[in-house]
Amino acid sequence: MPDALLDSRSEFDRAKLRLGLWLRDNASPTRVLTRDELSRYEGHRFVAGWHLKIERAGVSEPFDVLINGSFPYSPIRVAYRFQDVYLKWPHVEPGGLLCLPRRTAASAGLEIAAAGAISDAVALVGQCQELRREFLSYWGRSEHKGTTRIRSLLDTANRRPRQIAVWSGADYTLVGESPDQLLGWLRNTGETKVSGIVRGLFAYLNEPPIPPFPDRPADLFAVLRQRAPNAISVLAGLSIIDKTTITLEASSRSGDGLIGMTLSAPNNFDGFRESNRLRPAAKLALWQMRSELRRTTVDRFDAAWVHGRGFNKQLPTLQAATALVIGCGSLGSQVAFRLAQAGISGTVLVDPDALSAANVGRHALGVVSVTLNKAKALADRLRGQFPHMLRIEDHPMSWQDLYGKHPEIFAEATLIVACLGEWASDGQLAEWQVRQGTAKPIVYGWLDEFGVASHAVALAGATPALGCILDGEGSLRVPETLWDSDGGVTTEPACGTLFQPYGPVDLAQAEVLVSRLCIDVLTGRAKPPCHRVYAGSTAQLKEAGGNWSDEHLASRPTRFEGAFEYERPVRPCGRCRACQALR
Ligand SMILES: [Zn+2]
Repeated sequence: MPDALLDSRSEFDRAKLRLGLWLRDNASPTRVLTRDELSRYEGHRFVAGWHLKIERAGVSEPFDVLINGSFPYSPIRVAYRFQDVYLKWPHVEPGGLLCLPRRTAASAGLEIAAAGAISDAVALVGQCQELRREFLSYWGRSEHKGTTRIRSLLDTANRRPRQIAVWSGADYTLVGESPDQLLGWLRNTGETKVSGIVRGLFAYLNEPPIPPFPDRPADLFAVLRQRAPNAISVLAGLSIIDKTTITLEASSRSGDGLIGMTLSAPNNFDGFRESNRLRPAAKLALWQMRSELRRTTVDRFDAAWVHGRGFNKQLPTLQAATALVIGCGSLGSQVAFRLAQAGISGTVLVDPDALSAANVGRHALGVVSVTLNKAKALADRLRGQFPHMLRIEDHPMSWQDLYGKHPEIFAEATLIVACLGEWASDGQLAEWQVRQGTAKPIVYGWLDEFGVASHAVALAGATPALGCILDGEGSLRVPETLWDSDGGVTTEPACGTLFQPYGPVDLAQAEVLVSRLCIDVLTGRAKPPCHRVYAGSTAQLKEAGGNWSDEHLASRPTRFEGAFEYERPVRPCGRCRACQALR
């Protein structure tokens, strides 16, 4: 371009001067770009430019404002100078030049053109950052039609690129860390025909992908090379004969997310076993030339996601725990269920009895399970609902029989939960605990007369023992409630067994009390000995015909008649066998 056109007093010179002044006044601080900096925008012949920083959402963003020799008849161009966003962001050309929606020539009005170009640039950068933050939803909208969704059991905290196990079902594809993990999960969900587990790829992308997403194998390989060190070599180690499932993870400000892709076996390629001996470069080339890439959605089914969307801080502790639940009646079944919901990875259920119709109103199981053993039916329900749990066992027998056959189960358990509701069993378990004298905690749970008060007691070691809290007949040494006659135990007509006439809502309070104490003991928030009491309202107690004991009233807040929870001190009583043995 002849320099004469850009002389002083030319339109170019006057407009450039005005633009420089406008930028200084409206987008400070600015700096004039050097000739070297301008030459980096190859092929654009920019002759002048300014560097500026613009505050956006509390962050200072770097931009270049550029003009060529046809200015002011040509539009103002803006480049985003933050890292290399070319090839990663839509509407970005090499060097970070932004393709802005409006390209008004400055000759029509310089201030409007400058302000418009800069505000469009800032808006475009904002949209791209939004794309990155919300990459999961954009990915979901871009998945290929007719693909099978992926269910993931993968450990998303492990970001090493690695081979994973893949099972293809009719309705979903399951991916996990190992074939055993997939088999356990599938069996728990009732899947009986499990075969054909193959290997796939997991990789962590150090930056979330944004549109346009990979469409062909070559696009995927480019993303892996750029964003996931070593992932390509793991991919090249996989079989080329079968379809390959790929699960990628990336982090964004709204959390970690997974996306999936499948790479078809190469078309018109006679996949023979030996072809897996091809060199990595040859495999990649075959995939690149003859395979199809399809994008699909990944749904997380791993424990960290199911139990708190990846934000549950207690989960690692609970995932390391196995609870031995002795007594799967109304209270025990509900507590076992709550612990599974909370995220413990193992549960061993023990109960010799079958479920009857009269249990159903308060039990975690329903009418379909009547006549089935409570422990077995509950285990089956937990398997279906929490198939990622690593250990769900049932033993249709008394705890005494189980201990005779498998004492190691008692030794392995992290926590024992006793909801027997029957002194003969509770008392013997308490005696066993005293004689063992180990630090393994047992949480005992039960409801008082008419369910007006419920108790959760955590004990470990020999003393204080359950005998310090309950006397030789299983009654509280320090009662909560006082009753005129039979202590609320009513005889059920027809069969003569004893039952306490509390309802499902009273039970729910006990269930929460006992479950919370179990979790608090496991996570170290509560230390045995610990005795928590849930006391109902005074009106409820009066209606049932009882009165609060003096000891209860001493703990009850003054002039408060509602329900509340409190902790009782637990001390060696000096009277029970455990205490006497110490003398
Ligand atoms: Zn004692």
